[in-house]
Amino acid sequence: MNPFSTLGIRHDIVNAITELGFETPTPIQEQAIPVLLSGSNDLVGLAQTGTGKTAAFGLPLLELLDFEENYPQALILCPTRELCLQITNDLKTYSKNMSNVNVVAVYGGANISDQLRQIKRGVQIVVATPGRMLDIINRKAIDFSQVGFVVLDEADEMLNMGFQEDIDSILSTTPTDKKTWLFSATMPSEVRRIAKKYMTDPFELTMGTKNTGNVNISHEYYVVRARDKYAAFKRIVDFNPEIFGIVFCRTKIETQEIAEALIKDGYNADSLHGDLSQQQRDKVMKRYRERNLQLLIATDVAARGIDVNDVTHVINYSLPDELENYTHRSGRTARAGKMGISIAIINQKELGKIRQIERGIGKQFTKSEIPNGFDVCEKQLFALVHKVHNVEVNEEQIEQYIPRIMDEFKDLEKEEIIKRFASLEFNRFLEYYKNAPDLNASSQDDRSSDRGDRSFKSSTSEGYTRLFMNLGSVDDFTRGDMLGFICNNTKISGKSVGKIDLKGVFTFFEVENSVVEQVQQAFKTVDYQGRDVRIELAGEREGGGSGRESGSRGGFSRERSGGGSGHRGRSTGGNREGSSREGSSREGSGFRDFSGKRREDRGNSSSPSGGPRREGGTGERRRRN
Ligand code: AMP
Repeated sequence: MNPFSTLGIRHDIVNAITELGFETPTPIQEQAIPVLLSGSNDLVGLAQTGTGKTAAFGLPLLELLDFEENYPQALILCPTRELCLQITNDLKTYSKNMSNVNVVAVYGGANISDQLRQIKRGVQIVVATPGRMLDIINRKAIDFSQVGFVVLDEADEMLNMGFQEDIDSILSTTPTDKKTWLFSATMPSEVRRIAKKYMTDPFELTMGTKNTGNVNISHEYYVVRARDKYAAFKRIVDFNPEIFGIVFCRTKIETQEIAEALIKDGYNADSLHGDLSQQQRDKVMKRYRERNLQLLIATDVAARGIDVNDVTHVINYSLPDELENYTHRSGRTARAGKMGISIAIINQKELGKIRQIERGIGKQFTKSEIPNGFDVCEKQLFALVHKVHNVEVNEEQIEQYIPRIMDEFKDLEKEEIIKRFASLEFNRFLEYYKNAPDLNASSQDDRSSDRGDRSFKSSTSEGYTRLFMNLGSVDDFTRGDMLGFICNNTKISGKSVGKIDLKGVFTFFEVENSVVEQVQQAFKTVDYQGRDVRIELAGEREGGGSGRESGSRGGFSRERSGGGSGHRGRSTGGNREGSSREGSSREGSGFRDFSGKRREDRGNSSSPSGGPRREGGTGERRRRN
């Protein structure tokens, strides 16, 4: 027997939720449903979003109401329009096999006449945000005198948003003997007061301890200097190629600025904040929900109640002022039993705040290190390799091109082709990251730290210059081979060569200052297995400090990055290589529809810089302002 049937849920509802993939009740459903089905209890549920609480109260409501009658029998109050629509849709889905169920969503920012019309037609369940609900009550357009159940969802948020008085006024129009079910992620004293005021001996249900966030969330923090915050943030994103995240800022302006900078740098991001019209917010949310948007940059208020599954990361670009907000932010990830990561990017002075949050949520943060450029390149390389391995081949469409492709590759061995495919992408990341500085505040402050070893930067010996070469161990070089390769091709003595730092697909090596020019000149005419050997001064780049990363990834020269400006950012260059990489990347990570859209967005495919702006993205933003 289906476990939901065991809890007392009827078959037509069980069938509907089974289609949704609800096979076993979540803990809150398991505990709340039997109690609420009795219809005789008030309830206070301390539960995060993402625990399945909508079904926990929604399924009992559908069991208890009389749908032969068409008057308001249940009222659900919630803080935001997004949550209101979410609950309404959920109830409609759960009841899709039932007859005569009328659920109406009542929220601000939408046409009130439509909502009044729907109410007039007859409704049993009203899902509402407090402000608009009160407006409708004041117009005497609804009668709550026979309401049997009131649900206060995300009660703490409603109070945070200043709805206390509205809630009082609304509830005063409902019968005193109704049952009240209150859900809240946190239990501040204001919520306690509400519970006391409107409930009699409520059944108390706690998922986790007070204020505790979801156990499936791991909390991490990175300490960076304030001026490196944006670069550090981008690096975290680059280190997580499959990220599908919500990034929290403290102000609307910051939200807008970060989103704009990200878009400019070629990331798939957009902002969500209170200065956008409802229509614009809906549009952004739709794109995010459909995964056509990878990073949603939001304020606390705008992101309240967002219920999007599979959010992999919540990033606190700025820490919230209130502990409660941290709980709400992190609760956007790890929904429905999934795992999630909540990241805070802080400076040294904010460590105290992290400790406060730790105490508040009863969980420890892990201190993480901003990955170095090498780590990012490696991660992206293997993400690409993984995607290539798993890509779905459209046999029918590709068939016609295969003979020509085979012909192109006929002189290359399998290993060589693989190496080149990987390099095509990897070189771009390398180009961007090869001299990336260490962004961890502690190691910046402590120069004796040994991080330099893995970082691309390392101190150069006195009298020597550090050079970069685009060949490395994957090209079958050992350090000895490399020394020979350098000496044979440049005619310099082995004594003039200093440290050789052999990496995967590139090498850093030192030569005496006096022979730098000679080495650079000599390699201009050298090729290795049909590839140009490229030599660059490593120091030139290193001198740029963190500024290197503050530049747009979209701004890389097309020539240099091998036809596509590469990376995610560089792929905004509008060239085919860039966009195809982006497209396949999205497919692999489930970001649907993305490649086509991006091509449209780019428009300026012939830009010589390889980094034309994404016209669609910035244009949309301009219209908003
Ligand atoms: P909620 O806390 O109600 O916002 O639910 C969070 C997410 O979990 C929603 O996407 C629900 O569809 C999903 N969900 C709720 N209950 C279950 C269940 N028993 N099994 C699987 N998914 C569920």
